[in-house]
Order: sequence, then C-alpha cells, then structure tokens
Amino acid sequence: KTLNVSNTLKEAAKTFYDREAAVVGERRMTYGELDQEATKLANQLIQLGVKSGDHVGIALQNSLEFITAFYAIARAGAVIIPINPFFSKEESAYVVEQSQAKLIFCGEKAYFQELRYEIETLENLISVGFEEDEFISYSRLMMRGSPKEPLHVEPKEDLFAILFTSGTTGRSKGAMLTHENVLYSTLSAAKVMKCTEEDIFLMPNPLFHIFGVTFILRAASCGGKLIVMEKYSVTKALELIEKEKVTVHPGVPTMFTLELNHPDFSKYNVSSLRTGEMAAAPCPVEVVKRIRKEMNCNVLVAYGMTETSATLTITGFEDSDELRSETVGRPIPGVRIKIVDENREECETRQVGELACKGPVVTKGYFNMPEETAKAIDHEGWFYTGDIATIDESGYVRIVGRKKEMIIRGGFNIYPRELEESLHQHPDIVHAAVIGLPDEIYGEITCACVVLKKGSKASEESLTEYMKQRFVKYKIPDTFMILNDLPVTPSGKISKLKLKEEIEQQRG
Ligand code: ATP
Ligand code: MG
Repeated sequence: KTLNVSNTLKEAAKTFYDREAAVVGERRMTYGELDQEATKLANQLIQLGVKSGDHVGIALQNSLEFITAFYAIARAGAVIIPINPFFSKEESAYVVEQSQAKLIFCGEKAYFQELRYEIETLENLISVGFEEDEFISYSRLMMRGSPKEPLHVEPKEDLFAILFTSGTTGRSKGAMLTHENVLYSTLSAAKVMKCTEEDIFLMPNPLFHIFGVTFILRAASCGGKLIVMEKYSVTKALELIEKEKVTVHPGVPTMFTLELNHPDFSKYNVSSLRTGEMAAAPCPVEVVKRIRKEMNCNVLVAYGMTETSATLTITGFEDSDELRSETVGRPIPGVRIKIVDENREECETRQVGELACKGPVVTKGYFNMPEETAKAIDHEGWFYTGDIATIDESGYVRIVGRKKEMIIRGGFNIYPRELEESLHQHPDIVHAAVIGLPDEIYGEITCACVVLKKGSKASEESLTEYMKQRFVKYKIPDTFMILNDLPVTPSGKISKLKLKEEIEQQRG
C-alpha cells in the first residue's frame, strides 16, 4: 500500500472518529472534525485554482489552522511549504520566491500580499489570512467549503512538502520530501518508541520545522492525541503534562533541563510520561539520568535532519544512560548508514568521517538547487549529511561535529563542538561558539566567542588557562572574544556564518 498523508488522516478518522486528534490552547478537535475541516478547505483550495503539484505555503504559528491547512493541502494533491511565521519580510520573500508558492496561509502578516507586486514571478500569489479586509478570509473559506468530494487528489510525483533547513551553515535550502519519506520515517520511529492510540504527544516545538511535521503525522498514524503548545514556556509545559496526561515528550535537551530545574517541579504530577524524544543537540549524561529518575520517563535520544524527514538514528529503551548521552543510537529500521573519508570511501569501525545515509526517508533533493543536490546525493542514492561522526562495533553513532565547521589549524583538524562543550561547563559562560579565522601562518586559527554571566570577571587570560587544563596545545583557542550576545538563526541555533562575518569585520 502506498503511503499518503491525506489517507493517513482518512484512516484515523475512520477508526478514531470521536477521539481527540489535536488540542491547542482552549480548542480541541476530534479526528472526525479534523478530517471534515480538511476536506472543506481542500475543496476551497481547488476552487481557488490550486492544482495537484502546486506549492502552497503555511506561514502560521502553532494552531489548529496550521494542522487543518496541512492536511487540506495534501488532500488537494498540492505540496506544503512550511514557512517560519516569525520571519522578517525579506526572509519570507526568499522562501516564497525560492519555493514558487502559488497560495499562502499567512495569518495576520499583511506583507505577503505585497510580495506579488514586488516579485515578478509571484504575480499570481494568493494570500489567505485571518483578517477580513486584506486577504481572502480563512473563516469565510471554511464557512463555504463543501464537506463532500473530491476527497483526495493524487499528488504529482508523490511530492508532499518542501521543507527549508534551519540555515545554520549557509543559505537555507528547500528539501523535497515525498509522502513515502515522511510517513516511512514517522512509522519507523513510532515502532521504536512503541507508540499506540493511547499515546498523548506534547508538541513544544514549532510545527513548521521537520520535528513538528513528524509529530503531526506520528499522532495521526497511531490515532494518538497531539497537545500543541502555541509557544514554549516551562510552566505551561509542566501544566500541560499534568492536565492532559501526556505520555510522550519530544523536545530539545534545554527544555528538559528547564523543566527539571523549575522551582515547583516536584509539585507537578508528571507520572503519565512514558517516553520522550530528545533531538537537535547533545544531552549531558546528568540530564538523561535526571529525566529517567525524577520524571520517571524512559526518554530516547535521536539524531536527524530536515533532509532525512526527521529521525535518522535513535537510542532504545534498553540502552544505558551513558549510551543515551554519548551516542545518538542506531539507525531506525529500513535505513542504512556509513562513515566515509574525504574521497567518500567507506571508513573502518570507530574511524572519524562524514556520516552518509540511504533509504526511504532520504530527500529526493533540494528544490531548484541542482548543484547542491548533486553535491549531497551520489548516483547510488547515498546522502552525505555534512555531519562528522563515528560508528562503533554495535552500530551506535557518535556525533563529532559539522564538516563545514571543522577548522584546519596548521594541518590539525579541530571540531568546534568539542571545545564548545567544555566552554559550556565553565560556570561563567552562558553561550559559546568557536569559529575559524584566516591566518597567514597556520592557514586558520581558532576564535572562541563567549557570552559571560552578568558581573563575571573572566578574562581572555583566565579562559585560556581554563582551556589549557583540558586540551592539548593546538586545540586551545588562539583568541577569545567576549560578546554581549551571539547571532542566532530563526530556529534558534547559533549562526556561525553571521558570527564569522561580524568578527572578520571587527578585525578588518
Ligand atoms: P542548514 O542545513 O541549513 O545549515 P541545519 O542543518 O541546522 O541547517 P536542520 O535540518 O534543522 O538544519 O538540523 C539538522 C542538524 O542538526 C543535523 O545535521 C545535526 O548537525 C544537528 N543535530 C540534530 N540532532 C542532533 C543530535 N541529537 N545531536 C547533535 N546534533 C544534532
Ligand atoms: Mg543541515
């Protein structure tokens, strides 16, 4: 049977008609309602001229409308382009132009309307918003939409979405993901996590990111309930876990740390938590231990990216705390991985190199970026992740750092991540990022950029001394820059690209 997002909802509505599918704020929706609303909206999209294979943007914050539009677009056979709703006009314009969207769900953002006058290729852009006068109104569409056929239009070339990467290492790229890609990934990860219709999933991350997308589908594919946070806050997360009896807690490691350290943590009843999926960044072993003990939650650690439809590797329920912190587990069922050297020749066990993967979760390529696609995917279908890692005898993956961030100083390879982890353990350091700067003698030298706690007396000398106690000479940062803040990408990761530009400008 072919995997299809619209049919996944259809099936869920058949089996779990009266069960709650999604909760956002005070609003709740059953699978039956969601299925009907999606059909109504799909019919309206078709009336507005959206055809199978057309690109439709969703620039909405976490909401029931996001989820409805998500399924409606798939039902109309069109392709979803999730857009960060917090983007500036310029950032939005890039994604809309790059993806060639035909219609956009744009909430309250009036400027989407202007793009059609400003960018020639977007002259037929239709915007659907929440405000009556400026756009085609969402609520009016929903009022008029027919809940009858066509229930489902076959997508062209099985394309489901174009998801833009976070833009941490360069301009963000639109990864083309098929229905098979995202559903295979979702079902495979659900199997490892033993998800069932009894599960109640918290969604503290933005829905426009692949992590959000995969959990919308995770809930529907097993008939579970999705508790979506409009915006993450520690207190709200703890309240929701207690009130909604959340069983699965996805998130980034910081969220778990914040929750455990909340002054009233012990007053909340979090005993419903069964498991979690921690991804996007490494997690200190103490935190893994505390989640297991204090939350009584058998949390799993995962690694993945936009191009692999989310989860690529994940730890298991039987793994030790150490394995969950040092490694990102093993590939999900159906996926192959390997480590390669600079010539893309396969490395030995435990050797450091670039992680490559192959299987039904891997993107077909970047939309309208043939050169980037050719660089990333070879003729056998191996996708080169740009992440440096090792694989051990038992198949566990350890992430070393990103290839693009590697610094070559006088012939020695330095991975910033190792230094950054150490800097983060310094009691006075709030944020740290290590970058390479051009140098006549060494080729590149290392520069550690840090943000200090208020009132800290740490200096370049004391920080150098701190690093000297921990690292071999060539790894000790050549310079330290003490800054007020570090530039971040819209999804909240430190933007090394911008940081490098800023520092190079300062140095002239
Ligand atoms: P861009 O590709 O545009 O530079 P990005 O790679 O940050 O941005 P995403 O697809 O959101 O965009 O992030 C995936 C990356 O996040 C991975 O390639 C990896 O570097 C990092 N990552 C994900 N999970 C983990 C994890 N568990 N531990 C360490 N790093 C992780
Ligand atoms: Mg990437």
